[in-house]
Amino acid sequence: MSVPRYWREIPQRTRLEGQKCGRCGTVNYPPRARCLKCGSTSLEQYRLPEKGSLISFTIVRNPPVGFERNAPYALGLIELEDGTRITAQITDVELDDLRIGMPVESVFRKVSEDGDAGIIRYAIKFRPIFYNP
Ligand code: ZN
Repeated sequence: MSVPRYWREIPQRTRLEGQKCGRCGTVNYPPRARCLKCGSTSLEQYRLPEKGSLISFTIVRNPPVGFERNAPYALGLIELEDGTRITAQITDVELDDLRIGMPVESVFRKVSEDGDAGIIRYAIKFRPIFYNP
């Protein structure tokens, strides 16, 4: 059995790779062809911090096709330690335990599996950092 394409791509996907704009300094995540703010194509690879805090979230009960198995799940707005804000799924938590301001960290998780093609897709998600009392 051959190694699925997405599996081989994992090393590049485990880190939060964004871009920093050479003209205006805006951090773009996910990476794109032009700066979201000023349109410049002068973009440098930029590694985002892996920790931050949850500044808002919504519970998704009617997910897009292909994500039905995950519902309900929490989609969070996360402010990373450098101030960059990104949207990502929150995992490893009971939805009732989610709190605004709670510390979170990025994790690398399977998001879907195509049974026929054997392709497994992964994505960055965030999980709460719980401190032991
Ligand atoms: Zn820019």
